[in-house]
Amino acid sequence: MPLDKSEAIILRTQNLGEQDKLVVFFSREKGLIKGVAKGARKFNNRFGSSLEPFSVVKMLYYEKERHDLVTISNCDLLESSFELYCETKTTWALAYVAELVEKFSPYREKEEVLYRLLLSFIKALKEGQRLEYLIHYFEFWFLKINGILPDWSTCHKCHRPLAGQASLNPQRDGFFCLSCAEDRRLTINQNQLKALDWIRKKAPFVNPEINLSEEEWKQLGRVFQAIIIYNLEETLRTLNFIDF
Ligand SMILES: [Zn+2]
Repeated sequence: MPLDKSEAIILRTQNLGEQDKLVVFFSREKGLIKGVAKGARKFNNRFGSSLEPFSVVKMLYYEKERHDLVTISNCDLLESSFELYCETKTTWALAYVAELVEKFSPYREKEEVLYRLLLSFIKALKEGQRLEYLIHYFEFWFLKINGILPDWSTCHKCHRPLAGQASLNPQRDGFFCLSCAEDRRLTINQNQLKALDWIRKKAPFVNPEINLSEEEWKQLGRVFQAIIIYNLEETLRTLNFIDF
């Protein structure tokens, strides 16, 4: 059994039998991995608090031949995210981010850019950046990294610049000007288009110089989430619990 080690972010855990836990983590070296932490449900177990969601850890694990689950032999806590779990809203937002990564990421494929995005997302949240902004920031970059964020500079049909308003049609993988749009439910305005430009250029902890109302941020979220659901061909469980 070859031994592997990697820095990783814990996405979620689930009880497995009487004594063990299933751990879903995103590693810097190999992307999404699922493993078993033996004895992790026992009182005073050796894993301590290192398996809490969004802990950054040093993971040591064994690969088993012809087996999807690795066996976690050691997990050292590098940075806890425990402080983020005092508000229900933040707890669900983090669960949403974890579900996104788990549903979209191929198994055991290195994705360094996504790993760094997750790290800077956690850092910005700890530094007090607004949750609503950060979630949409994350969605934007997540779609971009996965190559499924349509171009928002020109109309998908007539190719004129989209300066004023744009309507997303997820099925046709594009933004349309209002003359070409068949459906206007997912329309965004000039300020929201500017917000996309801002997010593209800035680090997550920079305070946004964009004045969007709560409803405008929500509509931007609906646009991102429509792209996510269309590409995933299913909705996300956690989306039922967040409202931004
Ligand atoms: Zn057009």
